[in-house]
Amino acid sequence: MSAPVKPSIQTRLNLLNERIQQACAESGRHGQSVTLIGVSKTKPAKDVAEAHDLGLTHFGENYLQEAVNKIEELCELSAQWHYIGAIQSNKTKDVAKYFDWVHTVDRLKIGQRLSAQCPEGKILKVLVQVNIDADPNKSGCLASQVPSFVEELMQLPQLEVRGLMTILSQSSDPRASYESVAQLHRDVNTGLSPEKRQQWDTLSMGMTGDMEHAIAAGATHIRIGTALFGGRA
Ligand SMILES: *Cc1c(COP(=O)(O)O)cnc(C)c1O
Repeated sequence: MSAPVKPSIQTRLNLLNERIQQACAESGRHGQSVTLIGVSKTKPAKDVAEAHDLGLTHFGENYLQEAVNKIEELCELSAQWHYIGAIQSNKTKDVAKYFDWVHTVDRLKIGQRLSAQCPEGKILKVLVQVNIDADPNKSGCLASQVPSFVEELMQLPQLEVRGLMTILSQSSDPRASYESVAQLHRDVNTGLSPEKRQQWDTLSMGMTGDMEHAIAAGATHIRIGTALFGGRA
């Protein structure tokens, strides 16, 4: 018996784009209003290159050393790299050097280091990770801490604070939790100066299993691994 044929990245990307269009249509959103970030952790550089050839330009990575190797190997591509893993303070220098976006800023010390270590002339786009379910096993700020934390981060010269990111708990109700993050994003928006408000435009939420809920709640960026690159070991 022959082994089952694994779907190609092209097939997966087509299906994924259909899912995104469908979810946008169902919530009355424009199909272009959601940016797909291909989460390529544990996958080889050639898979990223293949997705890039198919038109994908945003990629997310969790593990710094693996990411740095891939980013160097793929430096010819015009790609935007998003750091979506946990950050220890001894890793901030390479994160600031190699990435365009950091989704997982949840304490001031990390923001200060990222800003201070950012190469001259570069502006790093950052998101505040919010632990919306107040899950003791998840990182991220508590929702109540977010407005003052955003204000502090916005003082840092080399960061552009763009919005919120969340990772749900297993037990979470995805629709309700994503709606809460979107509401928090609007609440913060209300308190910003007109100038800062223009940059406060990003909601990174939704993975393979729950992206429809995230899109319905207003996600601007979804982070998709499995549905694009296949399962991980
Ligand atoms: C791995 C990962 C994803 C992608 O998850 P899938 O379920 O494979 O789509 C998204 N966000 C973060 C933070 C991740 O670590």
